[in-house]
Amino acid sequence: MATVDIVLRGFSVVTSEGNFAPCGVYLVRADDGRTLVYDSAHAGRRMKLLNALERRGIDPDRVDVVVASHGHWDHVQNFDVFKRAELLAHADELAYLAAPDPGDHATPAWTRDLFAGARGVADGEELLPGVRALHLPGHSPGSLGLAVETADGVAVISGDAVASSAAALAGFCPNVFFDAEKADASLKRVVELADVVYPGHDRPFRITGATAEFLTDIRPMTVGVGGLPAEVVTVEARTGLQRLLHGAARQSSTKGNR
Ligand SMILES: [Zn+2]
Repeated sequence: MATVDIVLRGFSVVTSEGNFAPCGVYLVRADDGRTLVYDSAHAGRRMKLLNALERRGIDPDRVDVVVASHGHWDHVQNFDVFKRAELLAHADELAYLAAPDPGDHATPAWTRDLFAGARGVADGEELLPGVRALHLPGHSPGSLGLAVETADGVAVISGDAVASSAAALAGFCPNVFFDAEKADASLKRVVELADVVYPGHDRPFRITGATAEFLTDIRPMTVGVGGLPAEVVTVEARTGLQRLLHGAARQSSTKGNR
């Protein structure tokens, strides 16, 4: 049976001065000994990523496969760390990255350079023994998850198709850059299929009735803020959902085109 390990925790930090966007990075070890890394986070977490891999005895040069959940900046900036891995993404995402919408702030035009040499995969394709590709469109055109057969049942690594347990419980995708209807259908597909969800920006969880049961505890976190006097910084913890339809007019005009 394959195993799934958390390399970097996903969570969410949004400030009035911008979004830090720490995504989950996951390691899959297949039965045949091959290793797969799902997402790579952004360059602000590169040292954290390297240290986390080292603690797990993983040499980045020996990782076999890297899977991109999608092209958003916060997931893609450390692919180059894995020098010999095959980079996989959904074919629709690669097509979109060739000419991303200029209004898509999460997918700058330079993103395509990070995907040079990537291979496009399709829904249902077996990437490693016990590891299948899931096309989960909506958050982006080619959002790609993984269904992994583990000893604990089916683990779905979802990327931002299911960014959080709150989204899974609410039953809709709150953060849509492409197609809201498809995003909601993808979220439902994950919730129905998964025994455990490894989300884009939250701790892994199981859905048990109307609540989420988390697989890991929250560790204490130190936050340093430079350049600002303490009295002007306020911290508000919240788990509320917002439907952030990116360019609603554009979405309705392009729906179904990609
Ligand atoms: Zn995203």
